[in-house]
Amino acid sequence: MIYLLYISSAVHEMTDAELVTLLQASRENNVRDGITGVLLYKGGNFIQYLEGPEPAVLSLHQRIAHDPRHKGMMTLLSGSLAERHFGTWSMGFSNLDRLNGQLSTEDELAMREVLDTLSTAQNASVTPNRAFRFLLNFKELLR
Ligand code: FAD
Repeated sequence: MIYLLYISSAVHEMTDAELVTLLQASRENNVRDGITGVLLYKGGNFIQYLEGPEPAVLSLHQRIAHDPRHKGMMTLLSGSLAERHFGTWSMGFSNLDRLNGQLSTEDELAMREVLDTLSTAQNASVTPNRAFRFLLNFKELLR
């Protein structure tokens, strides 16, 4: 199995209905393909973590890269994986614009670090352990 973490920017602010459409299709496909993970949305930007069988994850990565709903996709972390982190989530989701103060300072900082790479266009500043801890903390806030 492999995992992959990328960030991207929506071509326009997504409405709730658009996010629901995206999520429903993603969850159906991901159950079919054995992919699990989490999708976060904040201020017009996406952070997505995918994990699963290598061919399925790479094929999905290609499909997502060609999706006209977003641009500027940057893969920040990838590698092999022995066990899933999001085993029960065909695609956990959180709209961070709606969380209002539910994030710890540590998580706010980790999220900034990840999203800042969109403006600086370099991923050297992303600390893998910090990014993972931030993602895993979301398990309790996901829907
Ligand atoms: P088709 O439905 O045949 O899509 C054909 C084309 O239309 C593709 O280019 C597709 O990207 C585009 N498209 C589809 N629906 C819309 C729409 N409502 N508005 C505009 N364009 C559209 N898919 C998953 O299966 N799993 C995921 O985890 C996942 N995560 C995603 C995360 C983000 C941030 C984005 C933007 C997309 C994500 N997708 C995900 C959707 C993915 O890009 C494909 O649309 C989807 O997998 C279906 O691909 P397809 O070629 O089989 O579908």
